[in-house]
Amino acid sequence: MLDFFTIFSKGGLVLWCFQGVRGPAATAPVNALIRSVLLQERGGNNSFTHEALTLKYKLDNQFELVFVVGFQKILTLTYVDKLIDDVHKEFRDKYRNEFQQKGALGLLNGTFDFKDDFMRLLRDAEESSKVRAPTVMKTFEQSLKSQKTVKCMIETRGEKPKEKVKNKKNKGSKKDGTEAVAAPSKASAGDKQLSAAGDKEELTKDEILQKNREEFFRRHMKAGEKSRSPKPDAQKEKGKKPRVWDLGNSNAKVLDYSNSATNGSAEACPVEEFDPDMALGDKNREPGRLYDLEYESDDEAEEEKVVQNPSKPSVKKGGLGGMFGMLKGLVGSKSLTRGDMDPVLEKMKDHLIAKNVAAEIAVQLCESVAKKLEGKVMGTFTTVTSTVKQALQEALVQILQPQRRVDVLRDVMDAQRHRRPYVITFCGVNGVGKSTNLAKISFWLIENGFSVLIAACDTFRAGAVEQLRTHTRRLNALHPPESHGGRTMVQLYEKGYGKDAAGIAMEAISYARNQGFDVVLVDTAGRMQDNAPLMTALAKLIAVNAPDLVLFVGEALVGNEAVDQLVKFNKALADHSMAQTPRLIDGIVLTKFDTIDDKVGAAISMTYITSKPIVFVGTGQTYCDLRSLNAKAVVAALMKA
Ligand code: GDP
Repeated sequence: MLDFFTIFSKGGLVLWCFQGVRGPAATAPVNALIRSVLLQERGGNNSFTHEALTLKYKLDNQFELVFVVGFQKILTLTYVDKLIDDVHKEFRDKYRNEFQQKGALGLLNGTFDFKDDFMRLLRDAEESSKVRAPTVMKTFEQSLKSQKTVKCMIETRGEKPKEKVKNKKNKGSKKDGTEAVAAPSKASAGDKQLSAAGDKEELTKDEILQKNREEFFRRHMKAGEKSRSPKPDAQKEKGKKPRVWDLGNSNAKVLDYSNSATNGSAEACPVEEFDPDMALGDKNREPGRLYDLEYESDDEAEEEKVVQNPSKPSVKKGGLGGMFGMLKGLVGSKSLTRGDMDPVLEKMKDHLIAKNVAAEIAVQLCESVAKKLEGKVMGTFTTVTSTVKQALQEALVQILQPQRRVDVLRDVMDAQRHRRPYVITFCGVNGVGKSTNLAKISFWLIENGFSVLIAACDTFRAGAVEQLRTHTRRLNALHPPESHGGRTMVQLYEKGYGKDAAGIAMEAISYARNQGFDVVLVDTAGRMQDNAPLMTALAKLIAVNAPDLVLFVGEALVGNEAVDQLVKFNKALADHSMAQTPRLIDGIVLTKFDTIDDKVGAAISMTYITSKPIVFVGTGQTYCDLRSLNAKAVVAALMKA
């Protein structure tokens, strides 16, 4: 029934393999498992599907081994978990000496004659699954429901438990009182998140944005004079500096293109009102360069708080090498258990959620870290906290570093060689900054010498075409044809409102081809992820025009919502596409990064859920407020207390 069972070292050495009679070779599925799960920090649930196979795996972190079993996914093999546990136990006990004494050389030279043991364990596991008594259905009296009284289901206004009062959003949820009492600790993290959401609901979205923006500028301005003025939030420890993202000199009020001047008719915004210096922001930057996100870390100033193993001295990050590294090998060491890690992981999970990582993803991440560390031998001079923190940090960097890098400039040049325009489609919900960031990307492309045709395919929202027209005029004012040998660097292709967006995009692309434009940027109407007709229209636009890049524009302000949006956008593109291999989202534009301080969790949620890279980051409202993602800077902000 099994297709294969293989045991290999984390270094990639296959120690032993069982190949089923009819099953496919283990190589391709195991390689896919390594690429997509083990190297991508998605090892939370021990199961992976590859084509027609289900793969279950177990990590031995002490001896750095991986046990993988593969079987047809249509089969429900109840004994697989037991088998993998038994094989793991028996294999490591049998060859413990090889692993402990001879190290890597022992693995290379070792003969792992495990066939008979495996066949015995397989037989035992199969037998045990057969003899298991069929599960008897619970009677009503045995069920939890029978213990409920009508009284406990009635909620009296004044009697609500504390958490429930805070948690406005949860009022109508199906969680009842018994559950809340039974699992208080489990509920707390979620409650915190929900109550935060509940509080936020009292303010409108714009007000939150404005508040965050003001807070951002206040911090930004204060950075220079912080030594004199004491910090208002007293709970923060002395010596901490406010984080400063390296941004352009955004002046929100002057450059907010969403106001009447931009959204109204083109005539409402006379050219002379436009101040090129303001629109450019930072004057000292190199034209055409996409800077990395930067941030000023004050990690060094912060003392590491040791929660676990208080008897053991802690060392700072850098201290693991050199002298301590040497000692680590000499003194006795202890392997990490789930119990050691659980309190630390719980804190880490809450911390991630507080930083705006979607709750579900924070849980999965911590689970994956636990799986990776369980059984690993910890150096005497390292603490559980620092070990878990370091593993989580590595996992987060890994997630943010995409499997496939998107290099837009290289791809545009490639398209140029083939004498065709490079097409990028922007999609996302309303108000996230699609048009603004499309304009910023146009500006960056123009500075790199590429001409841009903007296709106004948001034929739905009043003012959308005018907004793009204003951007086009401003971009042309900054890059007039005179400075480009008489060539118009940016043009708008528009057909007004109410028309078929897919058709306009198609016309724009063929116009760009005829006129020799290098890039076509397709703006689409904002739509909610649940709006089926609009999602079908988007899938059609993408299927018909086959753009080179489909970018999802999402704002950094969202937490759990980010996941919902992305999952539903991708699902809708898959469901509503007529093609056999539907075209999904290729990358992300993360906007409004300047408004979130260090709550950078949306970046993690979005990349985790799609496995797609964040191609651009919007950091303000000037044309220069565009950055590329710097994974280490984001993770540093995320890990910051
Ligand atoms: P669309 O409906 O998705 O096309 O969104 P818009 O491009 O009209 O942008 C909505 C609002 O977000 C406008 O006020 C923009 O100025 C603002 N905006 C867009 N990107 C950013 C950004 O990176 N930072 C800040 N602070 N505001 C932004």
